[in-house]
This record gives sequence, structure tokens and C-alpha cells, in this order.
Amino acid sequence: MSRFETDAIRTQLERTQFLEHSNPLYLTSSFVFEDAEDMRASFAEEKERNIYSRFTNPNTSELVEKVCKLEKAEAGYAFATGMSAVFSTFAALLNSGDHVVSCRSVFGSTHTLFNKYLPKWNIETSYFKVDEVDKIESLIQKNTKILYVESPTNPGVDILNLEALSKIAKKHNLLFIVDNCFATPYLQNPIKFGADLVIHSATKLIDGQGRVLGGITVGKADLIREIYLFSRNTGPAMSPFNAWVLSKSLETLPVRVKQQCKNALKVAMFLEEHPEIESVKYPFLKSHPQYKLAKKQMRYGGNVIAFKLKGGIEKGRNVLDKIKLCSLSANLGDTRSIITHPASTTHSKLSLEDRKETGITDGLVRLSVGLEHPKDIINDLKQALK
Ligand SMILES: *Cc1c(COP(=O)(O)O)cnc(C)c1O
Repeated sequence: MSRFETDAIRTQLERTQFLEHSNPLYLTSSFVFEDAEDMRASFAEEKERNIYSRFTNPNTSELVEKVCKLEKAEAGYAFATGMSAVFSTFAALLNSGDHVVSCRSVFGSTHTLFNKYLPKWNIETSYFKVDEVDKIESLIQKNTKILYVESPTNPGVDILNLEALSKIAKKHNLLFIVDNCFATPYLQNPIKFGADLVIHSATKLIDGQGRVLGGITVGKADLIREIYLFSRNTGPAMSPFNAWVLSKSLETLPVRVKQQCKNALKVAMFLEEHPEIESVKYPFLKSHPQYKLAKKQMRYGGNVIAFKLKGGIEKGRNVLDKIKLCSLSANLGDTRSIITHPASTTHSKLSLEDRKETGITDGLVRLSVGLEHPKDIINDLKQALK
């Protein structure tokens, strides 16, 4: 069995008659049939082949196969965005009247899905805080179907114990679904800890160069089959072009992410010593409340740092205005370092109460460390904090 770095590169399409070295791009909306019988048998799924790119396409299938290898998953499906992966997974697997238990600290739009859209179909969500894992069992009802978490969380970079959570899910016959976006398949494989499904926003570190959007769900084959059928009929599929870009991106995922994690640790250590900083959270800093768990679950600490400035929102805006090198942008995981203020941007739709519960205070800043020289990133922060 080959290793992660090799699978990330050598999982590729069969060569065409041109014997190309790099994967071709199949920009075609449909595929042709040999004859009427071939057409019938293809639609009847008696043979595995491409019919129409809303269903499958060679580029998206190749990307899925690669991510499955990297996540040790049986099957998967690729979506236009991370949110279409999240939405389609829930829509395909839940029925009206079902119930979800989720960690309170989830991506802003996932929170909106749970609070605004799933209730339209009579699906309610109960939440536990990152430090209330012992409360989960009391939230489980007869109609609970899914236990959902992110780890590390966005933007607080809290760590949840995936093994312990999967045991709770198994005991109560729930599907355990993990958004593994912040860790990427390189840093953490939730399936190893018992997850049934793993979701990625490929927009972040998987592309890692700020070019395309994408999402992917991988995991148990019978669940993926339901998700595939839902997607085939409702249309959130990833474009072949984005799949082609993302498959290339994966070839360099290990080197990029490893270096970004090393840079992030250096920046986090600098911030921890700075007098203008109230607190710093980074999974591989000894001061992180779940440092030991992070070390057990993850290969490196990730590229995102959450820190709190002394002086709240005014100070936060002031520092952001003085930043020169790091970009003020909503993305993360890019080669370029990106700094954001979650309370006024990505998580602004959360109520004040929800923001308080998830630790998204006005002074919280999220820094996605890129691949610039760490000394230049530190110097930029230094001058802005002055
Ligand atoms: C960005 C993000 C998403 C959504 O992904 P998009 O590609 O922007 O739709 C979901 N989960 C997490 C943790 C994210 O950071």
C-alpha cells in the first residue's frame, strides 16, 4: 500500500491515446452511447460509466477517488461548494421530523442551515458547547439521527474528541459526521476514529491557492449512495474544471500544509508573548486546553490561529486597518496569509448569545497563516500591533 504523499499524486485517470502525463480536463456536459442497448443499460446502472456531468464526470470521479484514498473512505461525492456538500448530506439523509445534535461551534452558514432552513422541514437541532461533551447524551432524543461536529472548530480552533464522540454515536445508533475542513485529510482522518462521513470545503486548504470553490463528502458507501442519488437529481455537482484544479492541488497538499503548520506555530508563539494580546489559541501550543488531544488526533496543529486583542472591537478594527502584508479576506487556507474579524463578518449572522457561547467575542481575530516567510508575517503583525 502506497503512502499519503504518493496517493495524493499517483491517483490519476487512465491515459488517453495521447499518453498525456498530466490529467486531461473533460469539459463535456454529456457522454455518448454506442447504441440503444448501451443507453438503456447505462441508465439502468447495469454498467458503471459516465452519462451526464450532473451525475458524474471523469474529473470529479478522479478527485473523489483520491480524497477517498487520503481519508481511508469507501466512497464519496464532489460538490460545487463546501456548503452544498453540507446541505446535500443533510438533505439526503434526513426526513421530516428527524433531529440533529451538533456542537455549537460550527461554520456560520452551517449554523444558519440548522437554525433557519432545516426547521422548514421540521428538523430541529440541539447544541452542546465544545466543553460540554458529557451533556451530549442528555440531548439525544428518539428521533435523533445525526451527531455533527467540526474539529478544529471555525473560528475558535477548539478540538473535539472524535473517538469519544463516535462511541456515543454508535451507542445511540446515530450517524457521526465530521467537517474536517480545518484539518484536511493530511492532518486528521476522522474515519479512523469512527466517523461515518467526513465533509470538506475543498475551497480552503485543499485548493490552498484561493482559486476555486468545492466541497466533498466521503465515507460509508451506502450513505454516499443516498447522497449521490439526491445530488444527481437536484444538481449541486462540482464542475469538471474545479475538480481538475483541485486534483492538481492535492498533489502538493502535504508539503503546503506541513509548511503552513510550521509557520503557524511560529506566529502563534510570537503572539503568545506579545503584550497587546490577551490570549492565543492554537492546537499545538501547550496552552491550548485540548493540547494533548490535538497531538493525539492531528499530525500538525493546522494553519489557523485564533487570538484575542486587549481592548475589544475598536482595537480589533484598528489592528486590521494597519495590516499590510496579510490580506483582509473571508477565505482561509490560502498560500497568502489572511486575517479576519469573525464577529463582524463570517459569524455576524449569529445572535449575540450564540456568539458568546461559541467564544466569538468582539476582540477575536482569526489568522490563516500562509506560505510567506514566517518572519515577514510576524513583522506585519508586530507593526500593526504597535
Ligand atoms: C468554509 C467552510 C465551509 C463552507 O465551504 P464553502 O466552500 O465556502 O461553501 C464549511 N465548513 C467549514 C469549517 C468552513 O471553513
